[in-house]
Amino acid sequence: MKKAIITGITGQDSAYLSKLLLEKGYEVYGGVRRGSDRTYWRLKRTGVFDKIKLLDFDLTEYSNLFETIKKIQPDEIYNLAAQSFVGTSFTQPIVTSDINYNGVLRILDILKSVKPDTKFYQASTSEMFGKVQEVPQNEKTPFYPRSPYGVAKLGAHWMTVNYRESYKMFATSGILFNHESPLRGEEFITRKISLAVSRIFKGEQEVLEIGNMDSKRDWGYAKEYVEGIYQIMQNPIPDTFVLATGETHTVREFIEKAFIVVGDEISWEGEKEKEVGKSKKSGKIVVRVNPEFFRPSEVNLLLGDPTKAEKELGWKAKTKFEKLVEIMVKADLDGFGA
Ligand code: NAP
Repeated sequence: MKKAIITGITGQDSAYLSKLLLEKGYEVYGGVRRGSDRTYWRLKRTGVFDKIKLLDFDLTEYSNLFETIKKIQPDEIYNLAAQSFVGTSFTQPIVTSDINYNGVLRILDILKSVKPDTKFYQASTSEMFGKVQEVPQNEKTPFYPRSPYGVAKLGAHWMTVNYRESYKMFATSGILFNHESPLRGEEFITRKISLAVSRIFKGEQEVLEIGNMDSKRDWGYAKEYVEGIYQIMQNPIPDTFVLATGETHTVREFIEKAFIVVGDEISWEGEKEKEVGKSKKSGKIVVRVNPEFFRPSEVNLLLGDPTKAEKELGWKAKTKFEKLVEIMVKADLDGFGA
């Protein structure tokens, strides 16, 4: 039985990945830090909570990582743990760097001395492309991160490549474009929208307050992306892969589609910070711009080119934008999240 450690087991991707690994016969260890959300609602939603062996695990503590890896002797480590919210990285850049960059270096260096044959996956991100240097972005596109989150992740990405090349370790990196689901954290834009629209529909909320509605993202379904993560780790050689849908849509489109799911339609009025969205059904303002949500530097457009993953791994995103919005809004209408 293969042993896998998934770091950040309370997160969105971990809930789907742990299910996948358990189905494939792995013994799954889940890293959880002391202050983590102990409801384990995501692991319960995917029905795997009682099958995971929980480990006391914090990426900021070297000795804790060292002892854990030495004791478990994992065949594979999926490093999904991170301070993963871009907005918070502007207010907490040092914490973000310590977790997202130094944390990765700690694991890699411990593996090098304790168990160098462990396969390692690093959760890299399209945010590393930031101010994009070409469209669409693939594995060869130059990086230009626009947030402390992106910068720290880029350092971790290159460190992963460096340990792969310097020490011949099986260190892989998946540059994943945004992937969402009903298990997404409520602070992330897609879930913020799906929750707000379901609450507005039920009369539990009046307005959705939003930042930049014109940024464009390549949004896929998290459940499918963890299959890509697994395939990256089973590829014969350690490598870097972009996982994306190859489609880009604005936040505004996400809002419009979400209201369509509840049988409403949005009409836009005003400009810039004064812009509002009105419900065609009620005539009320249901969307409002709040400049507090603007970032000090924005990422305006992300569009991934997943050709390499399609050709070499046989992985392809199946759930596209419209279906994803529907899955998320319907799940929130049913009270799936929270
Ligand atoms: P997520 O839901 O935010 O989960 C992040 C996990 O990291 C949580 O379990 C969190 O635990 C844990 N964590 C935070 N700080 C930690 C620390 N110091 N030590 C140990 N664990 C810590 O993230 P996700 O959406 O599943 O994403 C998984 C990974 O992929 C992340 O690294 C993210 O940056 C990356 N990524 C995500 C996307 C996306 O669109 N979802 C795209 C590209 C890359 P707590 O419960 O304690 O907070």
